[in-house]
Amino acid sequence: MHAARNIALCTKDCLCLFICPTGATDTENGQIDFAKCLDGCRLCVDACPSHALYLVFDRYPVKPDKDVAVVSALDNLLESKAKQELIGAALAHEGNGGAKLAKAIAHSDRVLAEDCAREARYMLPQSNQTRKLLTELLGRRGDPGFPVEAIEQLLELLH
Ligand code: SF4
Ligand code: SF4
Repeated sequence: MHAARNIALCTKDCLCLFICPTGATDTENGQIDFAKCLDGCRLCVDACPSHALYLVFDRYPVKPDKDVAVVSALDNLLESKAKQELIGAALAHEGNGGAKLAKAIAHSDRVLAEDCAREARYMLPQSNQTRKLLTELLGRRGDPGFPVEAIEQLLELLH
């Protein structure tokens, strides 16, 4: 663990420069010298009057893989929300009295679908779930208007 400085909050040339036992806070570029920082002794963090200093981990824990059943449930919910978004968008397009409400519902469905995708790790480009989804989507290359080329390009980028 070591200290880091938010330059935007720093009022400069005050307590941390004097309190740090190693001089890690006194650098030309305003950043903390990690090589000198004593594994987060936090003297500077506690002393800073501007709350410009904070501690950061050297390493972050790896997120465990999601259970298959959870991913499957998220897939189903994602599909359902995607369908509902299309319905909402179609109703909004008709422009009747409830168009604004339909548009809002479509937007809400989009946000929920994105949340499901994120939770199922589809939106992490490096995740296996993303590759698996894209590979499965290639099976729909016969569908009219389906963006096969875009999917192939995405898969290429992930390799
Ligand atoms: S955490 Fe301690 S060693 Fe690191 S910069 Fe702050 S006062 Fe210096
Ligand atoms: S104590 Fe805080 S405000 Fe003062 S120089 Fe250090 S980081 Fe900047």
